[in-house]
Amino acid sequence: MTIEPKYFFLKRPSVMKTNIQTLLRHNGIDVPDSKLSVKISLLSDFLNKLNYIPIEDVSSVIEYEKADLKSRIPAIDFDAIIKDMMRSSEGFEVVKKNTFVLNSGIFSQTKQASLALSNILQNRIIAVDFLIYIFIDDAFQRYENFKNERKQQDCAQVVIDNLPHASTRVFVRNYLNKKNLKSVSELVENEKSNFIEMIKESKQLHENSKKKAVVKVEKMKTVIGYPKEFEAPGALDNSYQLKLFPSDSYNGMLMKIERDFTKYYLDFISKKSVINPANLVLWTNAMYLEDNTLVIPPPIMDDPFFDESYPEYAKIGILGTPIGHEMGHGFDIGRIGNDENGKAGRVLTLVDLKSLMKNAKCLHKQYINYDDPDFGKQNRPDTSINEMIADSIAAKVAKYLEVVLPRFGLWNAPVQFYCVLIALFSVTASFHYIESSKSFSEFMKEKGTFLSLKAVFATIKFIFLLTAIVSQYALKLLLLFSQRAMFFRIRAAEQPAEQAVEQQGAVQLPRQDESRSSQKEMQQGEGIRQRRVVSQ
Ligand SMILES: [Zn+2]
Repeated sequence: MTIEPKYFFLKRPSVMKTNIQTLLRHNGIDVPDSKLSVKISLLSDFLNKLNYIPIEDVSSVIEYEKADLKSRIPAIDFDAIIKDMMRSSEGFEVVKKNTFVLNSGIFSQTKQASLALSNILQNRIIAVDFLIYIFIDDAFQRYENFKNERKQQDCAQVVIDNLPHASTRVFVRNYLNKKNLKSVSELVENEKSNFIEMIKESKQLHENSKKKAVVKVEKMKTVIGYPKEFEAPGALDNSYQLKLFPSDSYNGMLMKIERDFTKYYLDFISKKSVINPANLVLWTNAMYLEDNTLVIPPPIMDDPFFDESYPEYAKIGILGTPIGHEMGHGFDIGRIGNDENGKAGRVLTLVDLKSLMKNAKCLHKQYINYDDPDFGKQNRPDTSINEMIADSIAAKVAKYLEVVLPRFGLWNAPVQFYCVLIALFSVTASFHYIESSKSFSEFMKEKGTFLSLKAVFATIKFIFLLTAIVSQYALKLLLLFSQRAMFFRIRAAEQPAEQAVEQQGAVQLPRQDESRSSQKEMQQGEGIRQRRVVSQ
């Protein structure tokens, strides 16, 4: 946590005046225009003086204890403020150790800055007026945000964004198959070992790079579903102290939510929780966090994306690749300079780092120069290089080539696409039939859950698999037929027997050389994108 000066921009005096007047009028207070104008100009002067405190090095931070804010700004009890933001003062010492102060503006350690600050704070009334105005301005901003953005959003999305903990809890309690957690956990552990194995077997990396890279993977923290401390029955409910009432105003509710968020954040700083609440989001994706943490939120590990009963290749194809991709982000250009704790620290030796940059840039150049007949050039030079590194690592770490591709053989992307299309068409057609046939529809409604979302997914899955199996067998029959025809032709031409066997082998699937050609394709970051669930 870093304590830093907040830079304000006051609104135009006329807007400030209208806002203050509106608020006062709603509370039955009438203040003359002239008095308000004087106060507003005093606030602007105060802010100008604050902003003119000399700024030294804006990037340097000092430890909280060393910053000694108590003696520099005695009017503010920072210890008490931090304790007040915490659930309990237990863990305060840990918070202090993990808190830093930005050495600039009002927190600057120079004599000049201290003197300027104490001069500004001499007029306490203006300082307090300024704080009150900031409070009012925050409230107006919340309402403006509601009017301009939130009002247009889906109501459930607003709740999910504002209350990620509670939303996760509701989803986990009511929908998530808990057995999936173990299965995802195994998937993550497998991929971690594959990653470590891959690093150790590397012929390019030097020993020092290997050691540090292995430590980074080994120490990568994982949050599968939700932080472990919430696993105990009732644990989240106990830590959840937010109480909202129908009588609360919109602003009042948001203030309670923000305060509650701060408590979770301080839990994270005091190491009581492993996840920064800002990163606990309810979305169908996985993500890699700066402090070397891999997060797999609950929605992606549930139907229809994942189930413990799915075969291994399906688990890897659907969830294994995003997991490998996010692990790969730990070694992309933006994060390769961070150690196993996410702090600045070189993982690769300089030579290996240069080599990584060279290879990545070469691959990236190939990618941005590729002119796709359908999508054109994907010219996003700033971000795509990291995505390509993550994808390339994922292809190997998830063992996509070894486990998933051979399983599909000829059952490639177009075939899968048509199977999905047929499945969707069949389900839509059957529902249309049910809807238009009243007696049948009534019969189904009596059956209760037939039309539930789960049933729809199950039906699509069933028809998809059925179509897929049928199409795969049809392809095999077709191959067998053409193979025999070729065999007979070879025999008719009186070719040597060994050559005939070779020819026969050449059309058996899956073929080793086809896997290799796919491997090349994967290394170029192409194939994986077709099946990867959208990732960060
Ligand atoms: Zn990514």
